[in-house]
Amino acid sequence: MKKITIAIDGFSSTGKSTLAKQLAKELGYVYVDTGAMYRAVTLFAMQQNIISENHFNKEQLIAALPEVELHFEFNTHLGFAEMFLNGKNVETEIRTLEVSRQVSKIAEISQVRAKLVEQQQKMGENKAIVMDGRDIGTVVFPNAELKIFMTASPATRAQRRYDELTGKGQSVTYQEVLQNVTERDQIDTSREDSPLVKAADAFEIDNSGLNREEQFELVLKLVAEKLAQ
Ligand code: C5P
Repeated sequence: MKKITIAIDGFSSTGKSTLAKQLAKELGYVYVDTGAMYRAVTLFAMQQNIISENHFNKEQLIAALPEVELHFEFNTHLGFAEMFLNGKNVETEIRTLEVSRQVSKIAEISQVRAKLVEQQQKMGENKAIVMDGRDIGTVVFPNAELKIFMTASPATRAQRRYDELTGKGQSVTYQEVLQNVTERDQIDTSREDSPLVKAADAFEIDNSGLNREEQFELVLKLVAEKLAQ
């Protein structure tokens, strides 16, 4: 059976990872959440006091990058791979609003991007992969057979992220989440290195009015077309 590379990009909280996980399960492909990698580097920088609300020592982070070891381990109970930072499972810690507030500043650093993109490209060497992020169809896998670009209204996205965080017991307000989602989009789309843009050959899906099943059906048709080509 033909194996392809599926690149999913888009704005924050558009449901990229939900779709990517569904697809990977259906196709028996590997799923890689690249946002988790940027979040893990951010957690490292926070733990080392390299970044906080009003301080960021970029040079210190660049110098410390060789000390950052990232890998994923598949969790059979959860059905997806969890993020490990220097040997420790950080899957829960990287999902907090504190990390979300700093991550886009970390993702602007070219040296950080170069390190993570190299690792991501290695993971996709054998295809049969679904990867989501902001630069997958443009930078990581510009030759991916299927590229999807996801959007939804800011209010829809903030509500989804708010439900997710409060569902995990985190104490946040809807306004805080909305502000974070819009701030991250602003930084992610305007940064110099690998800004979030829709690849010319990507299919755009606005899922504000689509439920998970409808969206999945739509994408499965696109996959079937690519596999038949
Ligand atoms: O996907 P997620 O929302 O977890 O990503 C967190 C942040 O990591 C994004 O807001 C963005 O700043 C950064 N990111 C990136 N490139 C990627 C994936 C994530 O710059 N490929």
